[in-house]
Amino acid sequence: MNIGLFGGTFDPIHSGHIALACAARERCELRRIYFVPANIPPHKERPPVASYFDRYAMVALATREENAFLPSLLEAPGAIAAPPRGKGKHSDQAVAGANYTIDTIRRLKQTLKKSDRLFLLIGIDAFKEISSWHEAETLFQECEFIVASRPGYSLADVANSLPESLRPAPAVTKPFARQPAKGDLVLKGATVHLLDNVHQPVSATAIREAVAAKRPLRKFVDPAVAEYIKKLALYRQ
Ligand code: ATP
Repeated sequence: MNIGLFGGTFDPIHSGHIALACAARERCELRRIYFVPANIPPHKERPPVASYFDRYAMVALATREENAFLPSLLEAPGAIAAPPRGKGKHSDQAVAGANYTIDTIRRLKQTLKKSDRLFLLIGIDAFKEISSWHEAETLFQECEFIVASRPGYSLADVANSLPESLRPAPAVTKPFARQPAKGDLVLKGATVHLLDNVHQPVSATAIREAVAAKRPLRKFVDPAVAEYIKKLALYRQ
C-alpha cells in the first residue's frame, strides 16, 4: 500500500496543505496520508503561535471528510524526541527537543508492512532546505518524496537541493536548468515526484495576519477551522 506522511507546523492548516495532499494522493495512488503537526518544528525561525493541541484539533477538523487523510499524534508532546543519532554531518544544527522527520519516519515504519511504500509530502520551499535536515541522506533511503513545485523552479533547482552525496554531477544537471520542475526525478539513492498542479497562493503566515487584521479568511481555510479559530480567539495579535 502507498502511504503518505505530511509533516508541518499547520499553524493553521489551510487550503494549500489540502491541495498538496489531494494532488499527491492522485499522483502516487496514496491510500492513506498522515498529517503530522510538529510539536517543535526544527526548521522554523520562530516557535508556532497556536499550541500543539489547537494545531492538532484544526488538522483533525480540516481532514474530517476525507477517509484517506488522518490526523497523526506521531510528534505529540511526550512522543519520543530521540536525540540526534551518531555524528551526522548536520548534527551540530540539532535543536533541543525538536521533532526530526527521520525519527517520525522510523516510528511510523514500525507500524507499516514491509511491502508498504512510504512517501514524504513537502512544498518546494521546504524541499530547498532539505540537505540541512537531520540525517538528510537517510531520509531519501527511507522514503520517496512528493514535492509541490511552483512556476519558476527548474528540475536543476530540485536536483541541486539534494544532499551533496546524492546530487548529480553538474554535467548531468546542466540540461535540467531549462526544464520546469515537473515529472519524476529518479536518481541513484533518491526518488522525487514533482507536482506542478498545486496552485494555492496561501500561507499560514498570511492567514494569521488576516485574523489579526480582522480580514475574512475566505476559501483558504476550512469553515470548521475558521470557526475554531474564532471560538478559541486564536491569532488575534
Ligand atoms: P508559515 O507561513 O507559518 O511558514 P506554511 O503555510 O508554510 O506556514 P507549514 O505548516 O510550515 O505551512 O507547511 C507544511 C508544508 O506544506 C511545507 O512542506 C510547505 O512547503 C507546504 N506548503 C505550505 N503552504 C503551501 C501551499 N500554499 N502550497 C503548497 N504547499 C504548501
